Amino acid sequence: QQEIHLVNRPTGTPAIEDFKFVECDVPSPKENEVLVRALYISVDPYMRGRMNDTKSYIPPFELNKAIVGGVIAEVAVSRSESFKRGDLVLGNLNWAEYSVAKETKLRKIDPNLAPLTAYLSVLGMTGLTAYFGLLDIGKPQEGETVVVSGAAGAVGSAVGQIAKLKGAKVVGIAGTDEKLAYIKNELGFDETVNYKSENFKEELKAATPDGVDVYFDNVGGDVSDAVMRLLNNHARIPVCGSISSYNAEGQDVGPRVQPTLIKTSSLMKGFTVGNYASEFEQGRNDLANWLQEGKLKYKETIVEGFEKTPEAFLGLFKGINTGKLLVKAAEP
Ligand code: NDP
Repeated sequence: QQEIHLVNRPTGTPAIEDFKFVECDVPSPKENEVLVRALYISVDPYMRGRMNDTKSYIPPFELNKAIVGGVIAEVAVSRSESFKRGDLVLGNLNWAEYSVAKETKLRKIDPNLAPLTAYLSVLGMTGLTAYFGLLDIGKPQEGETVVVSGAAGAVGSAVGQIAKLKGAKVVGIAGTDEKLAYIKNELGFDETVNYKSENFKEELKAATPDGVDVYFDNVGGDVSDAVMRLLNNHARIPVCGSISSYNAEGQDVGPRVQPTLIKTSSLMKGFTVGNYASEFEQGRNDLANWLQEGKLKYKETIVEGFEKTPEAFLGLFKGINTGKLLVKAAEP
């Protein structure tokens, strides 16, 4: 079997050579452990941060060890009373065809309640990020204008729809016209703007005639600088991600936002979804109900083949995905 190791700490944009496929034995589970076979692997922008040897809310990946992330897997061998062969589980697992996990680190998932992949997307980490960041920090009110960047991605597409459910007017920013058409026509966003357009700032202004009450920031950089100029009084800015700067080699310096925050008495607050761990159950229930009622839609971009995992990860920075980007490692 194969594992995928990180073999270099990338500077700038990671390259395929920073990853290495390593042949190794299928590990054996000890007592209270299970051997699992990976089915779907989640590739996520936050993993870029773990490739740097810097202090963060989560430790860096170790060099020459398997990369670890969200995986849906099937139990192949169980030495745990809680799991049996064939059970489907979600865990933070190695990028490996097979890996061993402690029983306490796995959550059983039910493919009859939702499609398997949904547990890594709309009902998983990215759905919960949208839910808590928007509702706890953004607090959208009926009739307000909510702008979301990275709007056609996993987090952003859920943010826009939840804001619509709360009665807000939603403006989505993304990088291709196909993505804009998707969020407008299929997800019901009110307005869309392509941040790669030459007239981005003017188009953004035209799309927000009543200003911006909530800015859910997934990307940072120039896009966010432009949105920040349009804030209304008492705006709220959940700072979720900053993908435009994850591969930056120098210090990222932009227009200073403090004067805008002061003038508008706005709140800007960073968060990680882990802050809300004690409330995940509630979040999952609401998301699952909206899904069932057809009020929340989601898309996934699924790359076929375990061997494509590094390539898929790099694709996040090229915007290859609409909705959640996943790798199908094996047939369920
Ligand atoms: P997405 O599904 O949104 O995928 C990434 C998308 O980012 C791409 O499809 C691309 O779309 C866009 N993108 C890539 N490079 C740039 C750039 N330079 N400028 C602007 N947009 C760019 O990923 P997620 O939904 O998983 O994550 C979205 C953000 O939320 C990320 O910043 C991530 O780090 C963050 N996040 C934060 C969490 C938290 O706990 N705080 C948890 C989960 C995610 P396009 O074609 O539009 O450019």
